[in-house]
Amino acid sequence: MMEVLRAQFGESERAEPAEIRALQRVQIGLLAAHAHAHSAFWRARLDTAGFDTESPNGGWFEALPILTRSEAKAAGEALFANPAPPSHGKIDRMKTSGSTGTPLEIAKTDLAQVFWYAITLRDSLWHRRNLQGKLAAIRVGTARATHAGWSPAYAGYANGPCVTFDAREDIDAQLDWLLAEQPDVLLTHASNLHALACRSIERGCRLHRLNEARSFSERLAPDLRERVREAWNVPLTDMYSANEVGYIALQCPESGLYHVQSEDVMIEIVDAEGRPCAPGETGRVVATSLHNFAMPLIRYDLGDHATAGGPCPCGRTLPTLERILGRTRNMLKLPGGGTAWPGFPMNTLMRLDAVRELRMIQHTLEEIEVELVLARPLSHADEAALADAVRTRLGHPFRIRLTPVARIARSQGGKMEDFECRVI
Ligand SMILES: [Zn+2]
Repeated sequence: MMEVLRAQFGESERAEPAEIRALQRVQIGLLAAHAHAHSAFWRARLDTAGFDTESPNGGWFEALPILTRSEAKAAGEALFANPAPPSHGKIDRMKTSGSTGTPLEIAKTDLAQVFWYAITLRDSLWHRRNLQGKLAAIRVGTARATHAGWSPAYAGYANGPCVTFDAREDIDAQLDWLLAEQPDVLLTHASNLHALACRSIERGCRLHRLNEARSFSERLAPDLRERVREAWNVPLTDMYSANEVGYIALQCPESGLYHVQSEDVMIEIVDAEGRPCAPGETGRVVATSLHNFAMPLIRYDLGDHATAGGPCPCGRTLPTLERILGRTRNMLKLPGGGTAWPGFPMNTLMRLDAVRELRMIQHTLEEIEVELVLARPLSHADEAALADAVRTRLGHPFRIRLTPVARIARSQGGKMEDFECRVI
């Protein structure tokens, strides 16, 4: 199936944009009909927008209000469309904090996962990676391990190995591990990559086999590319994805623009009034996930901002984004003198459904403030459980201060730092 998709991608990435848009509209019609039939939440929303089951490709789409993350969280299970078509496979559930710090539970079908794998493969083929090299992946909550292959996405290809490490470990421990492993490709959170590159420069470390650094799902620091080049003399490749919708855009190997993955997601960049942005303008990123029928997301505001791009000189006709202004997360400073990527206690946050949004601020080496937007006050037991979960996730017995707030401040452009370190 994935090989079929890969072959189709080879054609669709150079197809007429109007042709792709027409195919997307047909798929959105199928998705909306399914959502209308199996989710009361979506039925009400689609009816209000004038959705007609007899002509599902009609003009209702533009009339459908944009769905915010807090609306999605408030809807909870009502957002899911049960049952998903049996041919779409089994359903997995997972939790995510997304771009705005609002915890959300999501459901995903096997079919959506197949698209994830196919786009994973496309990314490596675009960038002509040596799939037999060693991939080092440093993610939060990933145990130290060695795997034979990089991912199931490369089934049928000679591939691997992949070594993994936890991004919550101290930066020096991460760097020591990288020095021992000497990978060909390094993949990690953008902020963690920045910290690794800076520390590597300070220590004069050599990753002599490394030929590419890859980052994901965070706003890139303006000097990240330069630091990576200075540290290891390798290029940086970024990708844009979100747990709720999968891949959104891959970086073009020729121009560096981000190509929207239109075969699996339809992206609108809209201004404050919801009007489409022209190339060069920055607006909110609104996604419609085309194949995940278990949790339909139609015109869903990801909480990120991006700058719309124009045509790409590479010849691929997939729409482009110039840059992505997503979530940023500072590094945690450990009392022992190290730094680490801060994990969030998602399981506890999912259980505490009163928590709409949160941000953590590290004030000192021993104290973390957790700002909370609450639907209702937390009980003392819930407060204690949340403080414990934060300490466990951050890996140190910090003093935790919980502060309910009416809203969490965002900087210009709407971006939010969901973990801010104020320790100088
Ligand atoms: Zn391109």
